[in-house]
Amino acid sequence: MTIAPNVREQVRQRANFACEFCGVTEVDTGGLLTIDHFQPKTRGGGDGLENLVYSCPRCNQYKLDCWPSSDKDLALWNPRLEPAALHFLELDDGIVHSLTIVGSFTIKRLRLNRRPLVAYRLRRKQRTEKIRLLTHYRELVELLEQLNRQMSGLMEEQQELLKEQRELLRLILNRSR
Ligand SMILES: [Zn+2]
Repeated sequence: MTIAPNVREQVRQRANFACEFCGVTEVDTGGLLTIDHFQPKTRGGGDGLENLVYSCPRCNQYKLDCWPSSDKDLALWNPRLEPAALHFLELDDGIVHSLTIVGSFTIKRLRLNRRPLVAYRLRRKQRTEKIRLLTHYRELVELLEQLNRQMSGLMEEQQELLKEQRELLRLILNRSR
């Protein structure tokens, strides 16, 4: 490996410490991920940042030296050049669907619907949903507390009004005697 440590670090940070092909993070895998040459070195690819992709070992292993030999060959999705949303659509069941020929080829080649990866996406969705519900619940509790405070304020005002009303009544009754 000829990639300088500072370049490796830049690639890591740019990828937000997650595989740029499938999205699993260093935290999820419990270690550093690998650096992939999008255009393989054996096919003339260089060590420049524009050709480097942070990749989990699994995606890297499936990708290998995938590179079109001719114009007829299909090309993989290049995360350096295009957003994932252009080629893929993730549904609620955790399965990624292709929107383009490039997407379809990439899903097949990198096995982007491998079972543990689908399970991982589902778990991530559930976690996001749980956080969303918890936030909603906290907001409701806060609202209830606010309402309670307003209610006790209103009750105090009501007591005050009752007292005044009683006083007025007493005055009126005294005068009409
Ligand atoms: Zn990956």
